[in-house]
Formats: sequence, structure tokens, C-alpha cells
Amino acid sequence: MKLLFEISRKGHKSALIPEADTPVYELPEAFKRSTPVRLPELSETEISRHYTKLMKRTFGVNDGFYPLGSCTMKYNPRINEDMASLPGFKDLHPLQPEHTVQGALEVFHETGKALCEIAGMDAFTFQPAAGAHGEFAGVMLIKAYHEARGDLQRTKIIVPDAAHGTNPASATMAGFTVVNIPSNAAGCVDVDKLREAVGSDTAGLMLTNPNTLGLFDPNILEITKIVHEAGGLNYYDGANLNAIMGITRPGDMGFDVIHINLHKTFSTPHGGGGPGAGPVGCKSFLADYLPVYQVVNGGYGFRFDNPAASIGSTKAFYGHFLVIVRALTYIKTLGAEGIRNVAVHAVLNANYMRNKLSEYYDVAYDRLCMHEFVLTLQGIKDKYGVSALDVAKELLDNGIHPPTMYFPLIVHEALMIEPTETESKETMDEAIAVFKKIFELILSDAGSLHSMPLSTPVRRLDEVGAARNPRLRFGV
Ligand SMILES: *Cc1c(COP(=O)(O)O)cnc(C)c1O
Repeated sequence: MKLLFEISRKGHKSALIPEADTPVYELPEAFKRSTPVRLPELSETEISRHYTKLMKRTFGVNDGFYPLGSCTMKYNPRINEDMASLPGFKDLHPLQPEHTVQGALEVFHETGKALCEIAGMDAFTFQPAAGAHGEFAGVMLIKAYHEARGDLQRTKIIVPDAAHGTNPASATMAGFTVVNIPSNAAGCVDVDKLREAVGSDTAGLMLTNPNTLGLFDPNILEITKIVHEAGGLNYYDGANLNAIMGITRPGDMGFDVIHINLHKTFSTPHGGGGPGAGPVGCKSFLADYLPVYQVVNGGYGFRFDNPAASIGSTKAFYGHFLVIVRALTYIKTLGAEGIRNVAVHAVLNANYMRNKLSEYYDVAYDRLCMHEFVLTLQGIKDKYGVSALDVAKELLDNGIHPPTMYFPLIVHEALMIEPTETESKETMDEAIAVFKKIFELILSDAGSLHSMPLSTPVRRLDEVGAARNPRLRFGV
């Protein structure tokens, strides 16, 4: 497919802006470009067709099964879009006076209340733009807390080896040293290793529970207690709440800070760069450090307030407001019972697929899982030379988006599968049949799998080349 720059033809136009009927302000020479800006020249029809073509080549949750573990590619109900498209929401300006945006402020307030209830927290900020951004803001709260107490030697954050890569990255960016602790044979936190790791230099622990293997840590209360007793705080990576919401709460497990990916659990379309939202919740003793623009109900209506010892601004203005509208719509449509049902069915679906697929593939840590599970193809690779990548590519030929690959790092040849609660038994059965067909192909003609996929717009990509020598600019 050609790029917009390649189909550009001199003189084609789509701007409908009339000629200026006011005096034109001439910029001083020093501020002017020396060469004209290079933009494609196209008519509106050409642009529209270009994007429609691109759209047909992409793959989203509305095209087919998308079991991308940890990313929660669930169906996004259309009513969320309807609400986010209401002019009263979508046409707001961030600098409007508070009394003209009371409804929008109420959306923040209501969503905050709902998330506090779901997560077991006391306050939320909506400023962070995504999960990793929320982690950074959350870890900064932990830092502010220790600093305010003069507890300055707490420079270390403990992160288990099964953690999402963003956890150590966020802790490092916030100025902490990361201490990695290994998982035990059951795939959970090695409690003895944690005990050895904590001390007077521990600022906190960052943990996902269920972890990235889809396993709920049976020692969770002991884990959070060990960290608290050492004087540290517990951070919950709540990017994905699909397995637990309405059933248990991070706040009740001993966590002090959490971020939630609204674009995962609370059904905002994601992939391809967002926008998402990574609101951060905390217990009341941390609320004074939250970022600016907390919405409070001030008696005469809602208004913005800056917490007393705020860590400051983590983003321009108030966060990705329309993502928050979608999340609130989703929460209100489901209600408490519906939220709980999401978790029940997410877990049921994952266990159904784990059970069926274990007939053909090895499941890493094969026991009751939560919303996702991880296959390991190491055995198949050793015996037949077929890798997790080969299987993922053949799934593409069958209209299935590949699972998350080669993550978590502690599982070799990993395929991490998260069906989500929005898939029917029929869809999962079709996917299971495809996995079975691929398994039979491994037995009968393993070599053929190295050249898959056959039916996609592009075949095998040079992924190493793309990582080592990225060409990020057209024509260079
Ligand atoms: C997706 C995810 C993140 C990061 O979220 P982004 O919105 O992509 O920044 C962090 N932790 C876990 C467990 C995740 O699944």
C-alpha cells in the first residue's frame, strides 16, 4: 500500500478554509521556516479512501478473536461511544470556568467514587494518561510520603521477576533502585526471598495480583504485611482488574496505591497508541500528595482543588476526559452485579481455554488461573523446531490475533492467552480448533510453519532488523 506522500499530487486540496478577510500578520523573518513544510497534497476523497484501505488491513476486536494476554482486548460497548460523543462532553474546552462544566466535574467525581469502591481505595486522580504513566505518578506518591516523613534512606523498590516491564522502568524513572526478586516454583512471589530483600531502605513493593502468569498469589496478605512491617508501601499494578473486580479489592489485600488501566478493564478501545487513561488511587494517608486538579464537591457544586502537598502536575489539564466518560458509562451500565459477572466470566473463559488447550500444548504452571494463562512451547520447540512465533504467525492465517508472545520473561517460548469475558463459547471453541489444527500441523509438517503467514498483507517481517536498524522516517 502506498503512503500519503506517495499518492500526493501537486495542487490536490481538501482544505475548506476560506481566504482570510482580516489583515494577515507577518511573522518576523527569524521565526519563519527556510524551506516550505513538506505535506502531502490530496483531495478529501483520496484521504478518505486511504484511511478506509488502512482500516481494512488492520485487525481489531471487532474483526475477530483477540486473546492478547495482559492487554484485555474486550468488546467495547457502543453506548460508551455514544456517551463520549455527546456535544456536552466532547466540545468542552479545558479552560472553561468551573460553573459551566459541572456535569463534566460530576463525571470525574462519580467515576472516582466507583473506582474507590471497586479498588478499595479512598481517592483517585485522573491525570495520568496510561498505565505506565499511572505507575510513575503512583511511585512518586510513595516517594513524597517517605520524604515528608524525613525517611530519606528508602531508595529501593522491590519488583518480582514476573512483573510487567513498565514496573521497573517507572520505579527507575522516579529515582529508585529496583530490587528484583524471583518467583517460586508455583509461579508466585518467593516469600523467603522477599523477607531477605526488605529492610530500612525499602520504599515499597510493586506487584500485580493476579500476576502476569494469571495466578492469584495465595500469600498476598503475608506479602503486603512483610513490606508494611519493613516500613515500605505496597503498589498494586491494576492495569488489569478483569479477574478480581466485584470479588476482591487491592485495598483489602494491603495495597496503598494502585493504577487502573481504564482502556483495558473499563472498555475503551486501545492498541495503536490510545488514548487511554491510567487513574491512580490511594489510601487516605496518601491523598494529600495526589496530582493537581482533584474534583471536590464544594457545597455550591463541584470544583477543582489542589491537594495540600501535591506532587504537582503529571499532565496538561485533567486527564483524558472522554476515556473517563466511557469508563463511567461502562460501570453504570453493568452495575455492581454486572461488574462482578465480568470477573466471573473472564476467569471461567480463561480456565475453559486453558483446560482444552492443555490437551495439545504445555501450560506453564498448570493450575486454576484467573483471567489469563501462559502456554510454553519450549517442549515443542525442542522436539519439532517450532517456536511460539511460528504458532502465532499461523494463527494470523486463521483470523485470530496472536496472544502476547515471549512474556512474562520467566516462561520460555511463552504465549499468554486472555480470552476475556466478552467472547462466547462458540468463538473459543473455534479458536481451540485452530490451535488443535496447528498442533497437528506441527506433528505432520513442522517445517511449513516457519514460512507462515501466507494470507496477510505482509509475510514474515524482519523483526530483529526492525529493532536494530529502525527506519523511522519515510524516504530516509
Ligand atoms: C498494560 C499493562 C501496563 C502498562 O499500561 P499502558 O497503558 O500500556 O502504559 C502495566 N502493567 C500491566 C500488568 C499491564 O498489563
